[in-house]
Amino acid sequence: AKAAGKNQYCIYNEDMGKGEVRKFELQKDLQSALDYEQFYLVYQPKWNTLSHSLIGFEALIRWHHPRDGLISPGEFIPIAEESSYIIPLTKWILKTACIQAKQWDSEGYHLPVSVNLSSSHFRADNVAELVRTVLNETELSPHLLELEITESMMLYDLNNVIEQLQAIRSLGVKIAMDDFGTGYSSIGLLDQIPLDTLKLDRVFTRNIDTKSKRAIVRAIILMAESLQIQVIAEGVETQEHVDYLTQLGCHYMQGYFYAKPMKVSDINEWLPRLSA
Ligand code: C2E
Ligand code: CA
Ligand code: CA
Ligand code: CA
Repeated sequence: AKAAGKNQYCIYNEDMGKGEVRKFELQKDLQSALDYEQFYLVYQPKWNTLSHSLIGFEALIRWHHPRDGLISPGEFIPIAEESSYIIPLTKWILKTACIQAKQWDSEGYHLPVSVNLSSSHFRADNVAELVRTVLNETELSPHLLELEITESMMLYDLNNVIEQLQAIRSLGVKIAMDDFGTGYSSIGLLDQIPLDTLKLDRVFTRNIDTKSKRAIVRAIILMAESLQIQVIAEGVETQEHVDYLTQLGCHYMQGYFYAKPMKVSDINEWLPRLSA
């Protein structure tokens, strides 16, 4: 009921009235947030649990609002997606992440960074062109960049999306399908979409103690293997999660059990200790 109510406007409900006001204000404040440098990126480590090594980072955006404090991307990204603001915002995210990956690379940490893309962006703009421009500007080696897309992208002009993804991949950039297994299912399209990685949604991790969920995860892993697609589990929070996922043949993991998303300064302190 909560989810269904989210997009409905109800004039009699005081809370929803407040929600609408807040949304309106954020929409307005977003317009100047880039200029006032209120955004920053945090990076969450991804882990190889067989070799016990760091395999990369996911870049996640944060908005430090001057009045309201920290606002989560879960709240403001959908607002940005409703307008063309998502395009300049994603440009900034992509460029910032590439500069950071290039910086780590030059310090001897050759770790790929993944950036989340919005499906609305693919409809409104040529993402492949943007990626090419940013790679040129930042001189980042393309194999150190991964882009995370979602299944909802496949709901729209599929041929256009596939074309853009192919162009991106031909640059040497990796593509990951985020939140896999939730929402609109792209399972029947997995052999058509150019993909390197599936990110198993965290509902699977959360329910991995359920036998039927394990059966689904096992099937996804087998299918991915035969399509030569890697699988990484999201939302790994406990040793039990790690153990079950390992039993099922999943060896890439991301989640609070390993590390939370961190600011660059914290990562820079943490990285040298890792290899020591
Ligand atoms: P997502 O892409 O699925 O990102 C994973 C989210 O799960 C992040 O939340 C991360 O902090 C959180 N997370 C990581 N490990 C765990 C865990 O073990 N347990 C739990 N419960 N959560 C975990 P965050 O940073 O609040 O981002 C939320 C969503 O906002 C993202 O989901 C993504 O859809 C969107 N988002 C974040 N940054 C960006 C961005 O730069 N661009 C775009 N387009 N979307 C973004
Ligand atoms: Ca993601
Ligand atoms: Ca995800
Ligand atoms: Ca998501």
